[in-house]
Amino acid sequence: MSIAGDEIKKFEKDDCKQDDVFYQAMEEVICSIGPLLESDPKYKKYAILERLVVPDRVIKFKVTWLDDNNEIQVNTGFRVQFNNALGPYKGGLRFHPTVNEGILKFLGFEQILKNSLTGLPIGGGKGGSDFNPKGKSDFEIMKFCSAFMTELHKYIGPRIDVPAGDIGVGGREIGFLFGEYKKITSSYEGVLTGKPFVFGGSLMRPEATGYGAVYFTQKMLEIEGKESLEGKICTVSGAGNVALHAIEKLQQIGAIAVSCTDSKGTLYDSRGVDLALLKDIKLNRRASLEEYIKVHESAKYTPIAEYPEGAHAVWDIPCYAAFPCATQNELNETDAHNLITNGCESVTEGANMPSTPEATAAILSHNLCFAPAKAANAGGVAVSSFEMSQNAAMTKWTFEEVDEKLKIVMQQICTRVALTAKDYGVEGNYVDGANIAGFKKVADAMIAEGI
Ligand code: NDP
Repeated sequence: MSIAGDEIKKFEKDDCKQDDVFYQAMEEVICSIGPLLESDPKYKKYAILERLVVPDRVIKFKVTWLDDNNEIQVNTGFRVQFNNALGPYKGGLRFHPTVNEGILKFLGFEQILKNSLTGLPIGGGKGGSDFNPKGKSDFEIMKFCSAFMTELHKYIGPRIDVPAGDIGVGGREIGFLFGEYKKITSSYEGVLTGKPFVFGGSLMRPEATGYGAVYFTQKMLEIEGKESLEGKICTVSGAGNVALHAIEKLQQIGAIAVSCTDSKGTLYDSRGVDLALLKDIKLNRRASLEEYIKVHESAKYTPIAEYPEGAHAVWDIPCYAAFPCATQNELNETDAHNLITNGCESVTEGANMPSTPEATAAILSHNLCFAPAKAANAGGVAVSSFEMSQNAAMTKWTFEEVDEKLKIVMQQICTRVALTAKDYGVEGNYVDGANIAGFKKVADAMIAEGI
């Protein structure tokens, strides 16, 4: 049996198999890094894999808060501090009813390798709560964030652990969390990133993940000798931070982004999405995508109840490049075959692990370009790291400065992933390239730091 096979077997016995998505993420990495483990016995000698798949600690706490009817509500909060070999734990907070320890372990594990790929001094972590921000008033959000930070502040700090946003946590929530941290600790420090610009946020943090995914794709297509995105039809899923800014950057470079989705349905506008209207619906009104067709009657809205069986409507739209930017496992094997049949040439994961393992395998076996999340969506955490640098130096960089640095980081990640894949005999496979390059750097640091 191969090294990868041996390693997977070993972890099958572990109770981590109960955490489905965590196991899925771990299995992918183990399958990729076989050539690295075979190339140098030190990674086995120092039991890097065994040490890397167990978080340094998982903090779980109760969050009690008062809703607008003065009724007491109880949620669960988490912070998974996974690995700090390369720098302080760094990774977002997710507020969504589906949040549990397994999901946060999967996201934290991915974050270790993603942060490693940026080349910046940041370790990996993730956190959040099963709190559902949907339908809550601003005051309820504020009260929840305050209660959450009352517990979380004990475990974080600018050189310890620096959380950021994720699904359900944007500038508003980060602002409330920061305000509470400041009140409790009397310390004005860069303990969170994704802060509003007015008090320490970096310009371009909101745009960074979506823009970064497009910069990565441009570089990947160039390396692989494919046609550029200019003038090409692109499909995007999601209608949140990552999706909106991916659409924005695609439009800026002359591509035609024709779709977006939310948890209720898919919107398709063959003339290209009206981004100003979409932002108004999602950011100002926090309403359903169905509102869009009241203005643009020629666009098509498909509610999830009408999706083709076993598939998602958005991946059945013919396109040159696809950008899944909503959530994990939103693109399955049937979706992958629909994309392939319709002539898609490139898939870029803006969301974390949006493709199922079967979808990834189908895409790779048909030789499409495939940009895995931990490389393609690293732009967000890269600019978060820039925010930490600006906070530490008490300075502000311009939008253009941050944008230029982001572009360079994304191009460097892409080049490094491509070269690593080539070096380890899997040329063109960006999944293996990203896993090997990300793992190697963390592993070398862990070995250097001792056990
Ligand atoms: P947002 O909360 O801003 O948006 C998420 C979008 O995805 C919304 O349109 C939401 O729909 C949709 N969505 C969420 N859950 C589901 C679901 N179960 N089924 C269908 N649609 C769903 O999050 P972000 O844009 O920030 O994050 C999107 C993805 O990108 C996540 O995987 C996140 O981990 C990843 N990511 C984000 C980064 C960032 O900088 N924000 C950085 C790196 C990765 P609705 O509006 O109906 O809720």
